[in-house]
Amino acid sequence: MLLLALPMVAGEERVAGPDGRMVVTVNDKGGAPTYGVTYDGVEFLSPSPLGLKTDVGDYTEGLTLTGVKIDAVSDDYSVPTIKVSTVHYRANRGVFSFSKDGKPAIDLIIQVSANDIAFRYKVYAPKADTKVCVVKEEATGYIFPDGTTSFLCPQMPPMAGFARTTPSYETDYKADDTLGKNGDGFGYTFPCLFRNGDKGWVLLSETGVNGTYCGGRLIGNPDGSYQLAFPMPEEIGGNGTSTVGLAVPGCTPWRTLTVAPDLKPIVETTVAWDVVEPQYEASQVYEPSRGSWSWILKMDNNTTYPVQLQYVDFSAAMGWETILVDALWDTQIGRENMEKLAEYAKSKGVRLFVWYNSNGYWNDAPQGPRNIMNRSVTRRAEMAWLQKLGVKGIKVDFFGSDKQVMLQLYEDILVDANEFGLQCVFHGCTLPRGWERMYPNFASAEAVLASENLYFGQYRCDREAFSACLHPFIRNTVAAMDFGGSTLNKVYNPMNDVTKRGSIRRTSDVFALATAVLFQSYVQHFAMTPENLTDAPDWAVNFMKAVPTQWDEVKFIDGYPGQYVSLARRTGDKWYYAGINASPESRTVEFDLPRGTYAFYYDIVDPATVKAAVKLHGKKAPLTLNPRETKADTFQGGRHHVIHKGGKVKVTIPCNGGFVYEKLSDLLIYD
Ligand code: CA
Repeated sequence: MLLLALPMVAGEERVAGPDGRMVVTVNDKGGAPTYGVTYDGVEFLSPSPLGLKTDVGDYTEGLTLTGVKIDAVSDDYSVPTIKVSTVHYRANRGVFSFSKDGKPAIDLIIQVSANDIAFRYKVYAPKADTKVCVVKEEATGYIFPDGTTSFLCPQMPPMAGFARTTPSYETDYKADDTLGKNGDGFGYTFPCLFRNGDKGWVLLSETGVNGTYCGGRLIGNPDGSYQLAFPMPEEIGGNGTSTVGLAVPGCTPWRTLTVAPDLKPIVETTVAWDVVEPQYEASQVYEPSRGSWSWILKMDNNTTYPVQLQYVDFSAAMGWETILVDALWDTQIGRENMEKLAEYAKSKGVRLFVWYNSNGYWNDAPQGPRNIMNRSVTRRAEMAWLQKLGVKGIKVDFFGSDKQVMLQLYEDILVDANEFGLQCVFHGCTLPRGWERMYPNFASAEAVLASENLYFGQYRCDREAFSACLHPFIRNTVAAMDFGGSTLNKVYNPMNDVTKRGSIRRTSDVFALATAVLFQSYVQHFAMTPENLTDAPDWAVNFMKAVPTQWDEVKFIDGYPGQYVSLARRTGDKWYYAGINASPESRTVEFDLPRGTYAFYYDIVDPATVKAAVKLHGKKAPLTLNPRETKADTFQGGRHHVIHKGGKVKVTIPCNGGFVYEKLSDLLIYD
């Protein structure tokens, strides 16, 4: 009787980031744990549900918070394939222990750095002889304060779309949307961006997901709350579970939140890599690369031996390292000619990326080669052949599920590929969740409505700038994005012939150059063609020859998701400052540009602004553009040599246009 009269111990505990500005508060009120987030005392996440249900215990109710242990964690690490080459991670870790029926049940492990939260559950064995469990669902949820709006990408239905290849993270985002919706009825894919009115931003994602768990998605409830959900049971034809098998004691992957008053920490976050560990050693140094690929403008029919030879010559002329030999090479080129192609490429200093269908039993995509990458026996024999040819990497396509069984396949492909010295690019795939650090030969992934959709329809071309102004704030913040863009074609057809059928590009050539900087991917396949050597402006082609794909640093400058974006990236001592604009009106961005000599690529809006901003040198382009005109062929883009003594610059970007400052030298060079 006396015991019952005592007040509950613990009840509420908290952990703050190293600078004390971000605080996560954990509460066990009513036996159902919750967490809430404040930044500078402002609420960004209202008390939201935690816990998970397993077949050996329901850890969503009847839980008691028995205490918290807090310590500091730090990690200085380097990953060449991400937005920064070296990261100095500093965080506080709180291990919140919960008991049920007087026994340890779960730990909630929360790491809080300046602007990032990563948390996961550790599940204990309820009995000494319990070694495994089935995680049936998570209660993990997100309740935002009133006035929050969303920038979300709907999850796709299972076994739908092209040849029953979905879900593959290829849908249109909706920006500035209200809460209380659920996409197309299937929730949303990570990462998910929310705006807390004028107070700031929250980016949700996951990391550290591999074959020990499944990928999650976000379900939107009518009351405006969100909940983490497992994959849809109907994915991959209903094969494989949508629940999770977990060895206990064992941990779930990390759920991450990036929280900030402004967008800089969202764009610059490294949380996806801060809390994961390399799963194996790189078998060799995996270099960054730029490449061409015929498929994006010439499609299936041109994966032929003569056309691939042309693209080898084209990549060589561009100084690029690779070509991507896309779908159907198995039947249209054949293995014998692939060996000749690899040999010819080698003689030109070019290596191959080679495409595979991931299939399996999970899609109807007719493109081959099929049924090789899905099994260890066939996959390893194939990879031995690729290694013999000196192939640089593989592109594996059409996965179509976030189930645990499919996450295991991604890892199995990566592990084997590393053994044979191959880099991996995934398409038709899930969001990579921390994979750059976990798997050193993981190079990039699609998981976005990529450049192919610009080819497939005018609607996506009309929205190109809008989408491109979202990715640096959302999709590309947590993982490399193989968009396959930066086309200099005016029209999406094989010969760049505006009199023939094809989507018309609405964006400027400078926009195309800017996206080569804005979109981060260690391996890039640019949508340029051999014809661009003669039909595109020299200054644009020359820029594309030099643009790197490995970056040491990123600095967010300005922007708003879906409207405009500007950021700077550095490789070695070379800086690129780039921006694009999707808004109907011109946008002016202002920033400090360090002293030096630059190549300045611009779209003309207002001649006076351009003149005032830079000291012009060399030839002048005609200053005749109507800034509201959005047809690509009317842009008066150009390049100037700019001598800058240091200090502020202002750049005005027209709708569907862009700019890039490419640093040439620290010196002021006048010739
Ligand atoms: Ca695709």
